[in-house]
Amino acid sequence: MSAHVLVIEDNVTNLDLITYLLRAFGYEVSSETDGLAGLEAARTAGYDLVLADILMPGLDGYEFARRFKADDKLAGTPLVAVTALAMTGDREKILASGFDGYIPKPIDPQKFAAQIESFLMRNARGQSSRH
Ligand code: MN
Repeated sequence: MSAHVLVIEDNVTNLDLITYLLRAFGYEVSSETDGLAGLEAARTAGYDLVLADILMPGLDGYEFARRFKADDKLAGTPLVAVTALAMTGDREKILASGFDGYIPKPIDPQKFAAQIESFLMRNARGQSSRH
């Protein structure tokens, strides 16, 4: 069974690219375009990996990550920021808010599959995200 990835991204161009690449790699993809709807979606279905933007309506990525990791049912699921905020201070703030890692924008299509795989592997080694 292919991994199911939830993508939360308000920029349609980025969302289309991420969705296209993930499907091309054989993943199942669901998407939302704001943080609150994304959190609802994450709570409603079990995902193997969640990718979230930082700057988005509803909830920004930091608050999204805090709520996500405070939820016992979601905490074990790898949560990865996809963001252009890649300065040192940004990275610390991203990780401190609860993200397990980040993928810098612009997305590099050549590297994206390996980046996704590494976060899914992290999940397989840790506790299951199934609930
Ligand atoms: Mn955004």
